Amino acid sequence: MKTILLCAFGARYSHSSLALLYLRQAAPGLPIRTAEYNINENPSEVIESIISFAPDAVGFSCYIWNIGIVLKVASAVKKLLPECAILLGGPEVSFDAPVLMRSHDFIDIIIHGPGEAPFRCFAQSFCRGESITSTPSACIRTDGGFVETADIKPLSLADIPFVYDDLSPYANKLIYYETSRGCPFHCAYCLSAETSLDFLPVGRVVRELEFFMRNRVRQVKLVDRTFNYPDSRAREIFSALIDLSAKYPQSRTNFHFEISASLLTNETLAVLAFAPPGLIQFEVGIQSTHGETLRAVGRSHSTPALMDRAARLCAMANLHVHVDLIAGLPLETSDTFAASFNDAYRLSADRLQLGFLKLLKGSPLRAKTDRFGIVYTDDAPYEVLKTASMSYAELRRLHRIESLLDTLYNDRAARRTLCLLTVQCPPYDVFNRFAAYLEGQGFFTRPQALASLYEHLYAFAPGLPDIDVATLRESLAFDWFSRQSTDCPASFSLPQTNEQKAFTHHFFADANVVSRYLPNTGQTVRQLQRRCRIAFFSRLFGSPAAVLFDYGQKPDLPGFWQIISSEVDL
Ligand code: SF4
Repeated sequence: MKTILLCAFGARYSHSSLALLYLRQAAPGLPIRTAEYNINENPSEVIESIISFAPDAVGFSCYIWNIGIVLKVASAVKKLLPECAILLGGPEVSFDAPVLMRSHDFIDIIIHGPGEAPFRCFAQSFCRGESITSTPSACIRTDGGFVETADIKPLSLADIPFVYDDLSPYANKLIYYETSRGCPFHCAYCLSAETSLDFLPVGRVVRELEFFMRNRVRQVKLVDRTFNYPDSRAREIFSALIDLSAKYPQSRTNFHFEISASLLTNETLAVLAFAPPGLIQFEVGIQSTHGETLRAVGRSHSTPALMDRAARLCAMANLHVHVDLIAGLPLETSDTFAASFNDAYRLSADRLQLGFLKLLKGSPLRAKTDRFGIVYTDDAPYEVLKTASMSYAELRRLHRIESLLDTLYNDRAARRTLCLLTVQCPPYDVFNRFAAYLEGQGFFTRPQALASLYEHLYAFAPGLPDIDVATLRESLAFDWFSRQSTDCPASFSLPQTNEQKAFTHHFFADANVVSRYLPNTGQTVRQLQRRCRIAFFSRLFGSPAAVLFDYGQKPDLPGFWQIISSEVDL
């Protein structure tokens, strides 16, 4: 029998490919192997690896993040193994297969749309050495050019068996899992807008989620486009997960769901209130709060209702919530984007993710770019460069704001300082003015150490309204110590008095006091002294405070820092 090798390129090492597992399950009993790489690998190493399988056909799973390396590698494989059939599939090649066939003569067949059913037909014919020209949903090269075949009905999710029998290849990777396909909404920039809905039965979902918990998987990322549609189905699954977390108390599995906050009901929020911390993580798409923009892209929810539910989710300390914004949407100006940013920022989500509009092949918005003056890059990821309402320079500024947001807010480099800066100044203004200041300093033109960013923030922030420089200094020092145990940069360091040095000495000299604050560590006082730092603040907490930072704990967990000043008169 002829053999097939299926290849996927993740964007990072930690990513894994669900698509390859589905395809292999769709054609059981055939000599199909899989190989996963990531886009940061050396293409020459990847080519050598693929050749070592001596495959008769190689299939590549194509997305916007990997199409560049896929075409490079596939071309070389064809040159080295001229008899090997090159098969492409995935969203990035599903909408312009004839164009790709004409411009890349090493491609033998492109499958479009959901791949399982057509791949099954292809594999059954190919492995037996039969003609593949009857493969459905495909564009197939022939002697004279190529033929396009009729679409086949997609396999139902329920017809594909569970794909994770062996978890050993995923020890340090995210596990992707799917309980539904399609989306009830019709956002014009999204491929899911046109996909029909398909659901796995809830009973099967719960059994499979239990498998992940029983096996103590670190994180399961559900790829369902809007997991909480319909709300009652999602509530049943959340409720079952909460029950399972009680059944498997040792399991630390975290489940990540993309949801629409607009669909959340009071009943579901009430169920979620019982989720133990660490079990559930949500990604909530806000994208914009500008009404005209939302109408232009077909997002039809009520923004006040969505923001209300999102705020209630973010206020639940037991959940981890990410909210998303998209820059460069139609009719969004810098001013309306600033309002969207401020609305999203005020939710105080765990992460605020700022993405940029991508004009995906096959998305309805790609056909309307002229109407909105959207200009985007020719190559994947087809990112917006400018629109009729937002200039290239304004979008470049937003890229810099995104980078600052990631470091200062999402990576928590300056969470406490940002609280101080945004008391009197809207959050967008803080980021926008800081980005402009850094542009003036040439900050973005070369790689910078994190310490330099802190020092620039210390130099910039006193220009904002009502900033007390002494509190700013302490706030930056607190943020610095929240990330690292090393001394602060000199510009905002907090020199210690002799009394404060003596406090630290006495604290660690008293084993009873130490064990009160650092119980059950199994470490000697000397070891604990090396793993901790005590810093002194006179204004940050309203009255003088000594703070113990414990670098043996995760910085975002309670207990990483605690005020210990009651032990001594500061
Ligand atoms: S962007 Fe999200 S909500 Fe909109 S159609 Fe796509 S998956 Fe559905």
